[in-house]
Amino acid sequence: MDSLQEATTTDETLDPPDWTEVGALSHRVLDDAIVYLKDVRERPVWREMPAEVRSFFSAPLPRSPAPVAEVYDDVARNVMPYPMGNVHPRFWAWYMGASNFTGALGDFLAAVQGSNLGGGNHAAGLMDSQVVNWMKEMVGFPATAGGTLVSGGSMANIIGLTVARNVKAGVDVRERGVGAMPKPLRYYASDQVHSCHRKAMEALGLGNRALRRIPADAGLRIDIAALKAAIAEDRDAGFKPACVIGTAGTVNTGAVDDLQTLATIAAEEDLWFHVDGCIGALIAIAPESRSLVAGIEQADSIALDPHKWLHAPFEAGCALVRDASQHRNTFAVTPEYLESTPRGLASGAWLHDYGLQTSRGFRALKIWMALKEHGVEKFGRLIDQNIAQARYLTRLIEAEPAFELMAPTTINIVSFRSRLAGASEERLKAFNTEIMLRLQEEGIAALSDTTVHGRHCLRVAITNHRTRRDDLDLLVGEMLRLGREIAAVATSL
Ligand SMILES: *Cc1c(COP(=O)(O)O)cnc(C)c1O
Repeated sequence: MDSLQEATTTDETLDPPDWTEVGALSHRVLDDAIVYLKDVRERPVWREMPAEVRSFFSAPLPRSPAPVAEVYDDVARNVMPYPMGNVHPRFWAWYMGASNFTGALGDFLAAVQGSNLGGGNHAAGLMDSQVVNWMKEMVGFPATAGGTLVSGGSMANIIGLTVARNVKAGVDVRERGVGAMPKPLRYYASDQVHSCHRKAMEALGLGNRALRRIPADAGLRIDIAALKAAIAEDRDAGFKPACVIGTAGTVNTGAVDDLQTLATIAAEEDLWFHVDGCIGALIAIAPESRSLVAGIEQADSIALDPHKWLHAPFEAGCALVRDASQHRNTFAVTPEYLESTPRGLASGAWLHDYGLQTSRGFRALKIWMALKEHGVEKFGRLIDQNIAQARYLTRLIEAEPAFELMAPTTINIVSFRSRLAGASEERLKAFNTEIMLRLQEEGIAALSDTTVHGRHCLRVAITNHRTRRDDLDLLVGEMLRLGREIAAVATSL
């Protein structure tokens, strides 16, 4: 071996040969990004991708290099013009936040620093814990509670439901598994509960049937009498009632379960009280609406979603567990290659002890920067603003004979539909679906649909700091126009 030659060979790296060139491109990317958001209102909410854009994504694995400026041009041409649309002021589909530029800068800086939040003694780790502490404060949890940032609400709910299972199992379920439990566990939630809880029950080995869906009342909140009856029935039948899930803001209609009463029942019946607060936990910071979620602070665990009402860029969820040792005991493992040291890099907290991931991204920075910039009070006012906008839209709908409100508006979700004289439920569904699709295809607004009390309806979920009231006026006007146009030609509808 020629050792001299080996020593003089240049080692490869991913760093650019010329940082000045990369700097120039980066400035262009940033300028484009600013224009992109500044002008978002002028663009369609959404548009269908032409065939050449679709086929762009079938290109094979690149084997040889390309200048990064060309790579960026590909992205600028094929990706940026075809977004989901949730940064647009008239995006109200499903349920998600609208992102924010400071948060985007945070994601960029997090990637530049590149830290792994699995744990360790470094600033990102301290910031991660600080953001979790701020979340506790926002919902009225004690500073001693446990918590972790996760990918989103689904994962946050899994964290809470897993701690509940391990605490209530009656055996060392981590060691022995669900098969060794003396009695099968039962969880309870309203029939409006989010679908992620089903996945959680399946992943926990408890099975979907272990989650009893309790009928919702007329306001789409969990029926308390039916809940109590189900708990008693299960106890008699040899099950162990283990956990009640209260929803603070259902995804269908925004209904908020009676959290105070659920807390009382949980205490009386020795149940774990978990709150799915992915939508509504943060109402606790909204000065005018916070009483809606009173009782949330009594939960044993809470799932919340900074990528919804804090508008953090995806992904950012948060799980909080009142008893930090129960939280840690559910997930902590210390393999020989991750032992702590008295000083140095491995002397910080092991954040992976609070969830399922080992490596974790630096999600805290984007949340931290936006909270520092605006202050929590502004986020609270923006939540109140969205709720007031939903009330405004509700009034417009009630005043317009062509529309029908389909569920009470509690928070920021409005469920309604267009009427069609003499039409069956089936025709009404086709008619409203067509209106919804035209709104999307014409780039006017993004709505979604659902079924409430067995009837199809459209949904406007305003989790959007860019929405203004005139956007809602425009929606109503455009829906009336589309309704007339569709009804005029579509005899088949
Ligand atoms: C959004 C939502 C979830 C799931 O959260 P993700 O962040 O999408 O994973 C769970 N429950 C409710 C009530 C939600 O609105």
